[in-house]
Amino acid sequence: MEDVIIIGGGPCGLSAAIECERLGLSAVIVEKYNIVQSIYLYPTHMQFFSTAELLEIGNVPFSSPNDKPFRYEALAYYRKVAEHFGLRVHNYEEAREIKRRDDATFEVHTVNRRGESIVHQGRNVVVATGYFDHPNYLGIPGEDKDKVTHYFREAHPYTRTRVAIIGGSNSAVDAAMELVRVGAHIDMVYRGTGLSEHIKPWVRPLFESMVQKGRITLHLSARVNEILDDSIRLLHADGSTSELDNDFVLALTGFRPDRKLLSSVGVEMSDDLDKPVYNVETMESSVPGVYVGGVIASGRNANEVFIESGRWHGKYIAEHIVSRQRGQAEG
Ligand code: FAD
Repeated sequence: MEDVIIIGGGPCGLSAAIECERLGLSAVIVEKYNIVQSIYLYPTHMQFFSTAELLEIGNVPFSSPNDKPFRYEALAYYRKVAEHFGLRVHNYEEAREIKRRDDATFEVHTVNRRGESIVHQGRNVVVATGYFDHPNYLGIPGEDKDKVTHYFREAHPYTRTRVAIIGGSNSAVDAAMELVRVGAHIDMVYRGTGLSEHIKPWVRPLFESMVQKGRITLHLSARVNEILDDSIRLLHADGSTSELDNDFVLALTGFRPDRKLLSSVGVEMSDDLDKPVYNVETMESSVPGVYVGGVIASGRNANEVFIESGRWHGKYIAEHIVSRQRGQAEG
């Protein structure tokens, strides 16, 4: 029987495990792939917008020669931290359901890579499953074609092809800048009247200069409403339509947390924001003993929580579990 079962080995799940172990709680992590899978899936050459210091967990220094670390540095850092603390990670094991066994115990039902069912028992459960598995689908005809992806990895496959990027955030801008370097013909389509105000300030001027030079064609106040084999159809804010020749579509429209596991054990969701109900000081959900950690705690706008902020959730959770145990022991 574990004190804590943590579902998800992202930065916030790892941090929760460290903080629990630090306070003497036994903690095990169940991870669907391998630790920090979301970072692994980032674009290969991605540079964080946060400084290394703001990505640190467990008070372990993250040193980088760059003012903002790159993806590969973060992969190495989190691997090392997990190893340093000897975290117990069941990798390639997917949690499918959380069940309450009795007043003091939960069961986390998982399936490993061989398809075997496993049941873990714990007094508390932390759900830290992030959001990266669930892109915001556009729900338009043609979105299921092979030419469409919601995950951009590298520019090379798009060399000298016609690529439409849907989105106006950092992911879209970063992808466009990489595609410029391989000579792709780039159409960037965004429904807003201007790009996100959160575009990395050191990237924005470079991007704008590429637009001015005609290397990127920006279609603002427009939506892609159909994806065809060799083109895409746009609907503009004034009601007009247009069609662009196209080989590939990068739909970089963000991600949203999946609430299935939380719902399986009866955690309430707030009506307006599709957000789990939880205490912001302890991260405990509406089900006592079930906690949320990291991005899963955010509402439909997943950008409310980052590694920068979600890395602290584990500390609140560990302290709350220990103080409750103490209270119970004292009578
Ligand atoms: P995740 O990192 O998503 O980890 C969740 C883990 O849970 C995954 O490993 C997943 O495989 C696992 N999992 C999911 N479902 C199950 C299941 N059923 N059973 C078992 N395991 C499961 N944030 C910053 O602070 N600074 C930045 O500079 C920054 N840059 C970013 C750049 C990009 C391109 C993107 C996409 C995001 C960026 N973010 C940044 C946001 C950051 O990645 C997230 O906030 C962070 O990953 C959240 O951590 P997490 O532990 O909550 O979730």
